Amino acid sequence: MSPVSFRPSRDGARPVKVSFEFFPPKTEEMEKTLWASIERLAPLSPHFVSVTYGAGGSTRERTHATVKRLVEETSLKPAAHLTCVAATRGEVDEVVRSYWSAGVRHIVALRGDPVGGLGTAYEPHPGGYAQTCDLVAGIRRIGNFDVSVSAYPEKHPESPSLDADIDALKAKVDAGATRAITQFFFDNDVYLRYLDKVRARGIDIPIVPGILPVQNFKQAASFATRTGASVPAWLAARFEGLDDDVETRRMIAAAVAAEQVIDLVDRGVTELHFYTMNRADLVYAICHLLGLRARPEAPAVAAA
Ligand code: FAD
Repeated sequence: MSPVSFRPSRDGARPVKVSFEFFPPKTEEMEKTLWASIERLAPLSPHFVSVTYGAGGSTRERTHATVKRLVEETSLKPAAHLTCVAATRGEVDEVVRSYWSAGVRHIVALRGDPVGGLGTAYEPHPGGYAQTCDLVAGIRRIGNFDVSVSAYPEKHPESPSLDADIDALKAKVDAGATRAITQFFFDNDVYLRYLDKVRARGIDIPIVPGILPVQNFKQAASFATRTGASVPAWLAARFEGLDDDVETRRMIAAAVAAEQVIDLVDRGVTELHFYTMNRADLVYAICHLLGLRARPEAPAVAAA
């Protein structure tokens, strides 16, 4: 008898595991948008939701406040992003301990971008964690956290080669990382080829594809250029001539994202991480297509 397959299916009979990424809000207006999005997405029972850390540690307090509110007011499992940038080991450890005390058990550990901005050389903070693998080890020393790290199917822009980048991922796994989340990509073959290479290198943690539903093509393309993700010509062609046509752009965006995730699921992917940009609608629709349904019994966000 052949073993039963628990792979997800496009008809939703076996749904995928999803997680959602948010950024901490800067203004009251943004705060309202964020919490409305969390309220809409929470009943889908994501595996976890993560909150980013601003470049140079600029959102330290806001990240912490958002994560804490998630712990206190929702049934979601938050993951706090944390970088090595602009802080001593002691300061970073303090943040980690405060997360542990607040009941947070998942950290997304990153090196962070150079203080001088993308394109400048990265200089570790004197007395700080030099590389992400050191940060991962430091976090694991403090508590039995679930530690996610980044992975780059098209290599990190500073890496000399994809192999060197996979070596860096191996160092993070050896230090205790339990999951990797990829930089976004638009060509699924790129991700699947990368996955083969990672597995061949003996890395066996989940490598969860990071999905960026393109809400604004120009913005996504510029973001991709900065992060080393390629933008296929077919994707640009799909959004061509729609700069002033928001409605059609939204429909194309939904179709493009649906096509990407359904193809990934058909090819065996069981977990997806969505870069929500704090917007729920498109991500909610894609999750619905994947068979996820709001669970009425799942408490979303406690009334304020
Ligand atoms: P790393 O894995 O640390 O790699 C960075 C570079 O160093 C690569 O060139 C790598 O090859 C090299 N390297 C790594 N380890 C070693 C080693 N042991 N020896 C030699 N070389 C090594 N940025 C933020 O500021 N805040 C966030 O919240 C945030 N969240 C992110 C979430 C995800 C899923 C991803 C993919 C990225 C995120 N970033 C975030 C961006 C990230 O901080 C930048 O890409 C940064 O430039 C690199 O940090 P890293 O941890 O991704 O890379």
